[in-house]
Amino acid sequence: MLSENPFAYLRLKSSVYLENSPKSGWYSFDEGGAEISVSRDSDEYGQIFEWGLIKKLSCTAPHEFGAVLGTLVHEIGHHLHRLLKFKDLARFSQTCLTPRHNACSRYGMINGLEYFAETFAAYIYFRPELISYDEVGYTMLESALEFMGVRVNEYDPGT
Ligand SMILES: [Zn+2]
Repeated sequence: MLSENPFAYLRLKSSVYLENSPKSGWYSFDEGGAEISVSRDSDEYGQIFEWGLIKKLSCTAPHEFGAVLGTLVHEIGHHLHRLLKFKDLARFSQTCLTPRHNACSRYGMINGLEYFAETFAAYIYFRPELISYDEVGYTMLESALEFMGVRVNEYDPGT
């Protein structure tokens, strides 16, 4: 799916600003491209993961580079969501209506787009926790990925 539909652009930048506020990353749903900040404040990595209380899932990375990778995973989630929108608008709309009060992070509770992207990141980094704490989100995501023929392995820090 991603090899057939790559990002229109992917920019690594020293910092990303949107409406004058710093962002760890940004995805353009219309353009299908992403920008990712390679510098992080010290509170944006090395955070203890507490389901639903953490600011963003990428904050749980042990180091700055891990947070950058975590943001990239989040943006790939947005990209897959965009591809789902073009493949099946009704299915996409359904994902946006999924209750998100059990989202893995506070950021994932903002709206349906961030919920999908953060749930995708949880699917990769914290799959057992996702199944335990947000089974609805797990099912929503797995159904969407299966529909698109996307298979994603869990992150294994040992490989
Ligand atoms: Zn996002």
